[in-house]
Order: sequence, then C-alpha cells, then structure tokens
Amino acid sequence: MSRTIYDLIGLFAGICFILALKGLSHPKTARRGNKIGAVGATIATLVVFFYANEGSSLPLNNLGWILGAIALGTLIGVPAARKVQMTQMPQLVALFNGVGGGAAALVAIVEYLNLGDTATTAEVIFTVFTVIVGCVSFSGSIITFMKLQELMTTRPVVFPGGRFVIAGTLVAVLGVSVWVVTALGTTPLLVLALLSLLFGILFVLPVGGADVPIVISLLNAFTGLTVAASGYVLDSVLLIIAGTLVGASGTILTRLMAEAMGRSLFGTLFGAFTAKPQDTSGVAEDRPVRSGSPDDVAILLNYARRVVIVPGFGLAVAQAQHTVRELADLMISKGIDVAYGIHPVAGRMPGHMNVLLAEANVPYDQLLEMDEVNPTFGQTDVAIVIGANDVVNPAAKNSPGCPIYGMPILEVSNAANVIFLKRSMRPGFAGIENELLYDPKTMLLFGDAKASLTKVVGALKAL
Ligand code: NDP
Repeated sequence: MSRTIYDLIGLFAGICFILALKGLSHPKTARRGNKIGAVGATIATLVVFFYANEGSSLPLNNLGWILGAIALGTLIGVPAARKVQMTQMPQLVALFNGVGGGAAALVAIVEYLNLGDTATTAEVIFTVFTVIVGCVSFSGSIITFMKLQELMTTRPVVFPGGRFVIAGTLVAVLGVSVWVVTALGTTPLLVLALLSLLFGILFVLPVGGADVPIVISLLNAFTGLTVAASGYVLDSVLLIIAGTLVGASGTILTRLMAEAMGRSLFGTLFGAFTAKPQDTSGVAEDRPVRSGSPDDVAILLNYARRVVIVPGFGLAVAQAQHTVRELADLMISKGIDVAYGIHPVAGRMPGHMNVLLAEANVPYDQLLEMDEVNPTFGQTDVAIVIGANDVVNPAAKNSPGCPIYGMPILEVSNAANVIFLKRSMRPGFAGIENELLYDPKTMLLFGDAKASLTKVVGALKAL
C-alpha cells in the first residue's frame, strides 16, 4: 500500500474520530457516535498492518508478539468491559486510560533505544515528554482507580512536608530530563521514568472528595498528549490526530468540570503543592435523626404540589432508575409537578445520572441542571434525595477546609421537606458528615433505594 493511500485511510479514520466526538456530545446521538469511533479505531489498527507489510519505512517486526498481545488484550478487555457494573465504569476508564499512558511511554522508550545515536534533538525532547507524561498518567490513574474502587481511602492523603517532597520530585524530573537530552543513554531515561511514576503517585494522593473526577479527566487529556507526542517520534499522522483529539477534548472536559464545580483549573493542578493535613473526623455521629416509613413518605408526596428528585451514586448502586421513573410517573398522574435535579458530579462519572435515567427513558425535559433547579427549591414542597450525599452536603458552603468546600451543591435545604433514601448513616464519597441528615425538616427512609422506592410506589398507589 502506498504512503498516500495509507495517509488517506488514516485521514478517514481521523474523520471517524471527529464525528464520534460530535455524536457523543448529545445523549440521543451518543450510541451512534460510539460506533463510528469504534469503526475508526478498527480501521486505524488494521491499516498499520497492510502498510507496514509492504517493505515500507515502518517494517512490521515481531508479528507474533503483536498478535499475541492483541489476543491477550482482547481476552482481558472484552469480558472486563462486558461484566463491569455501570457504577464501576469510572474505575475501568481510569485503568484503561492509565494503561494507554503507560503503553505510550514504553513505546517511546523502545523507539529511543532503536534510534540510538541517530535520534534528533526534537525526537529526544518528544521522547522525554512522552515518558514523563505517560508515566505520570499511568501511576496517577492507578491511584485514582484504587480510590474509586475503595482499595484505599477516598480522602486526601496529605503528610507533613508533602508539598516539599512533591516539589522536589518535580525538580528532579526536570533535572533528569535535561540530563537525558544532553547526555543521551538508557540509564537517565529509566531514572526519568521511575521519577515520573513517583511524581504521578504524589500528584494524585492529596486529591480527595470532589476533585477526583477532574483529575481523571485531566489524566485522560495527558494520555492524549502522550500519544500525540509518540506519533511525532514514530512519524505516524494517525497517532498525532487521535492523540490531539483526546488531549483537546479531555482538556475542554476538565475545564468544564472544574468550572461547574467552582474549582480553578490551576488550583486543581497545583492543589498537591498547597494541600495541608485535614480534619479526618468524617464518621457518623451518635445524634438523633428523624426516620420515617414508606407510608410517611407517600403521604408527604401525595400532598405535595412540586417534588424535585435528586439522584446520586446510590441510585446507580441500587439500579433503581426504572423504579424512580415509576414513582415520578405516578406523581405526575396525580397532578404533581416533578423534576429531577442533576448535579454535574453526581454518581461516579460525568453524565452518570443522565445515562442512568436515559436507560429508564426519563424524558430529557424533566432533567434540570444544577443552575436551573437551584432557584426552584424555594417553591418545592419535597426534595427527595435518592442515594446522594456529597452533592447536597451544605458543608461545601459552610465548612472551610473540608474536602468539598467551594463545590456548588444542589440546595435541597431550601425545600419545605427533605427526604433521604439511604441504607445507613455512612457518609458519601468524600467521607464527610452531612449536617442536613440531622435537620428537623429532614426525614430518612433507611434501606436499599430500589426496595424503598418500590414500597413508596405501593403506598402512594394505595392513597
Ligand atoms: P455520594 O458518594 O456522596 O453518596 C452516595 C450515597 O448513596 C451514600 O450516602 C450511600 O449511603 C448511598 N447509597 C449507596 N448505595 C445505596 C443503595 N443501594 N441504596 C440507597 N442508598 C445507597 O454520592 P453523590 O452522587 O452525592 O456524589 C458523588 C461523589 O462522587 C462526589 O463526592 C464526587 O466528587 C465523587 N465523584 C464523582 C465523579 C463523577 O464524575 N461524577 C467521579 C469520581 C468521584 P449508604 O451507604 O448509607 O447507603
């Protein structure tokens, strides 16, 4: 296959990626977008084999190893993606993303060893960039994976003098980079890789609570940039296009999320350097709360004129999206005005609640973004919080220094009554106490969200 045909097919794959991003920007076209992206990725993978096979400048060595690696990846990836619960999707994404960054760094190291003395300064600089960012993305993503999977604490990990250790590691990374560019050689490059891995860990450890989603998105953008840089080293336009698209869209998503959560991107990026040890008393206190029965909840709802449903992570855990829709439909049939209040980081991934509710065919016009719904809580009779906690926690407004301080919340406390559906007094992802649970206007209905909702629907039907 000639280089021109190879490039044209590559361009076609690139167009597929752009159309995929366009499709993914709206729930209605997201499935199609995903399929177009998959077609582009398949073409991009296959075209490499045909071009490289024809005595080109990119000889395809180690075919057995490559096919073996693809087979192994398929054997692990397909069942993992099929079996994973919707609630565990962000962990999977973090893991896949980290592996992508790590792979780009490894490819850059191998290519560097191949080029040897013939490497130009530009190629060495791109290699250094790929190794640093790829390794940071890999180790940082592994830490976010462990936080999301709750294999380690979800709270910020900050130790005395930590910021100096992080700053020292960054200075060492930059110093060794200069060493690689000036001295060339395998040892400095491997030292650089190890230091970058350490920096990735130190960079993500102090991130806690509300900032984890922003960091996942940021690391994803990093991986894109790494792939683009390795595309330069490997002379592959396709990698440059794909990497730049991931880098650019990831950066835009990171900015949008930071804005939606009232964080400055700078603050999130450099939070690790300024983080201080924090109060870790997030455990539930032994204070009285007002708990109710499904009948009590049904009566409150029956006499309400306006109800706002606030879904959160627990709704996804309980897979109660169909039952919540049943409850909403029942209330609407009784003439109650019903809306859903959607927080940008409710659940465990951007758009999690939209995806979940779309699965139950909840009409889009019933979903209100945070800015739209907040001014309406004052005229709302009942806010029913289903498996959400951090996104309604007033500590974000009232407790300076807590991990979610400054994050805009759904202001359910302005509603006349608040109902929480949860299983226990345990805190949410950020691990902090929620004062609203003890508020006199709050009623708690303990139990799994799906079981509780089913009982409330039954009780409301009977009224
Ligand atoms: P939270 O994690 O704050 O709270 C979830 C609540 O659901 C808990 O109070 C839990 O209480 C309850 N719950 C869990 N399982 C069930 C169940 N089966 N039935 C009923 N209740 C249940 O979730 P939010 O959605 O309020 O906030 C999201 C958090 O996740 C934020 O801190 C955000 O920063 C973070 N995050 C968000 C990401 C995103 O992109 N959206 C990505 C990564 C993190 P109990 O155990 O007592 O039942």
